[in-house]
Amino acid sequence: MKIFKSKKTFHDYIERQREMGKKIGFAPTMGALHQGHISLYEAASKENDLVFSSIFVNPTQFNNAADLEKYPRNIENDLKILENSDYVDAVYIPEVSDLYPDGLKSKSYDFDGLENEMEGKFRPGHFDGVGTVVEELLLQVQPDNAYFGEKDFQQLVIIEKLVEKLKLPVKIHGVAIYREKNGLAMSSRNERLSAEQREASKIIYETLLKVNDWFRIITVPEINQRVKDIFEDQRGMVLEYFEISDEQTLKETDFFYKGHNYRAFIVVFVNEVRLIDNMHLE
Ligand code: AMP
Repeated sequence: MKIFKSKKTFHDYIERQREMGKKIGFAPTMGALHQGHISLYEAASKENDLVFSSIFVNPTQFNNAADLEKYPRNIENDLKILENSDYVDAVYIPEVSDLYPDGLKSKSYDFDGLENEMEGKFRPGHFDGVGTVVEELLLQVQPDNAYFGEKDFQQLVIIEKLVEKLKLPVKIHGVAIYREKNGLAMSSRNERLSAEQREASKIIYETLLKVNDWFRIITVPEINQRVKDIFEDQRGMVLEYFEISDEQTLKETDFFYKGHNYRAFIVVFVNEVRLIDNMHLE
């Protein structure tokens, strides 16, 4: 696996691969790699000649300085994981100045309102930061295909919108959520949980499964109330939000209309660790 730490050397390498007609799949990450990331690489390896990844903890998408500071970083371990996975041909580990030549600030995007729902309400500026770094990475890496996890479903939909609006020549693919054995969505943040908290957090997935059972059987307000009740009884957990939204518009619904696809979205704080999850309802 090739490791690139500067824009220039990576650019030269990419140009050579493109001249040889190689199809490139790309999955950007913030490191602290786990099996969820590997599932993106695995999907990319099936549809491309070469798989590229990047590791960059993007400061502009953190609205909370403590969260940015506490974000787990372990490049040495990440490189081992990448080598062992055998899916990734090249990894880009840029400097801040490679992605932000004019200083660390976000562009301002109009994602047709998608950016104002859910995470947009609780993490102001988050999607401007995500858009800025993903746009720059896609321009630099020039992949044919790019892979994003459904774990961050709103991010996936927003990146599809970004690519559509900017007419970037890349196809965006969503990859199913990879879960721990107990059902908890795998996340770099899970490392900050104690063993007991990690086990207790399976309640998030179990709740989503229950919501799926209740889908189109009881009303949306009734489901919302039951979810609230579940988390009121959990010590050390605070439900930040739960909502059922239309998969296309991401707007919260209070009724299940025919012909629409719905997804349940949830964010729970387990002490100070913010855990996010979602599930398509059927
Ligand atoms: P991150 O490093 O957290 O920014 O994530 C990088 C990419 O991996 C994003 O597209 C995430 O949605 C995706 N990802 C993270 N965790 C998972 C997971 N458990 N299953 C599937 N994709 C994931």
